[in-house]
Amino acid sequence: MKYYSLNNRENISTFENAVVKGLADDKGLYFPEKINKLPDSFFENIDSLSKNEIAFEAIKEYIGDEIPEDALKSIIAETLDFDFPVVSVKENIGALELFHGPTLAFKDVGARFMAGCLGYFIKKGKFGKITVLVATSGDTGGAVANGFLGVDGIDVVILYPKGKVSGIQEKQLTTLGQNITAVEVNGTFDDCQDMVKRAFLDKEITDERQLTSANSINVARWLPQMFYYFFAWKQLKAKDQKLVFSVPSGNFGNICAGFMAREAGLPIDQFISSNNVNNTVKRYLESEQYDPKPSVHTVSNAMDIGNPSNFVRIQEIFGNHFTDIKENLSAYSFDDERTKSVMAKVYKETGYVMDPHGAVGYLGVQEFLKLKPEYYGVFLETAHPVKFLETVEAAINTNVEIPAAIKSFMNKEKQIVTIDSYDDLKNYLRK
Ligand SMILES: *Cc1c(COP(=O)(O)O)cnc(C)c1O
Repeated sequence: MKYYSLNNRENISTFENAVVKGLADDKGLYFPEKINKLPDSFFENIDSLSKNEIAFEAIKEYIGDEIPEDALKSIIAETLDFDFPVVSVKENIGALELFHGPTLAFKDVGARFMAGCLGYFIKKGKFGKITVLVATSGDTGGAVANGFLGVDGIDVVILYPKGKVSGIQEKQLTTLGQNITAVEVNGTFDDCQDMVKRAFLDKEITDERQLTSANSINVARWLPQMFYYFFAWKQLKAKDQKLVFSVPSGNFGNICAGFMAREAGLPIDQFISSNNVNNTVKRYLESEQYDPKPSVHTVSNAMDIGNPSNFVRIQEIFGNHFTDIKENLSAYSFDDERTKSVMAKVYKETGYVMDPHGAVGYLGVQEFLKLKPEYYGVFLETAHPVKFLETVEAAINTNVEIPAAIKSFMNKEKQIVTIDSYDDLKNYLRK
């Protein structure tokens, strides 16, 4: 499979190059030349396929012969060693729980898959050591750190803003050691992001180190997110009902992967982009004007994104036809008050505890079903509620049980490098 840059269709890349570079040199996102269709027999027989087999069928064409079958199968097996249950919350609403991975957020799948692919390409010996350099406002850092832990040939450097990630998130970033370095920045997330961007353009650094990024613009992080939708459908197929999926969205990587799954033939009828007050896409669908705004801080902070980077990929899937996008994608936006009150309401009525991102997803599905009650609605629960312990416990007025996976590192010492400026980062990377 070849990939082209969304800034210039003539700018063609292999999968390997797209994974190693992240972004094309013209700054465009990579997009596959062909969207793969799966045969009817795949959908008819899905009940007899394991999740590893489903994932392999869904992604193999996107990798082509660049990773041999056996190696790809083991990358998939290492990526997916946890469950993706659809849990019934109400009669016509289910939660697709994506938080059973090591860092308790859905980003584990993309981060592990990308680490597997990059690790494979390095082992082949075409690249020397690679440094993955990322800025995180919370969830990305933990998933990337965990996914790349112990992968030969890769160093990971993660910048995070001091005092602005949750206690659990900080532990996930800072206690791993080995090839992972956590860099605490005296500044904001935007400062971290700016330093990362500057480093990528700094020849004195890039002459010495091959840098790559690990956010959802990378095709190896974006595409494996298709798997969730297939896994959910396998569990819901017997319902024989029209399906709508509500995706709590920030950078729109996850929901865009859902559209790719549907393009492959998966019978999902509608998608909902559920947003907090950072609602650029909702405003776009109302006005046809794409008017990004600076992000606003909310309780669902992984979605505090003013200019979602993957939205251009959704536009590409629909050939940039506004009316087609509008027909297939509904968008809703909710403020923190509604998010917290629905967490309390659902907990009271059903006992189900939602994290703030899942709660935004639930609100989206609820709005949609008011208009179209014949659907079965699925909202993606993208993070475990304990990752947002304070917000969740305050909203539902109850203590949430901490899973064993979290307890094990809550007592570990954090190991960090602290920096104040870009020069500090540069010195660190060059030493
Ligand atoms: C990253 C993240 C999102 C947003 O996903 P996108 O693919 O960026 O739209 C939603 N919820 C949680 C918990 C996240 O970590």
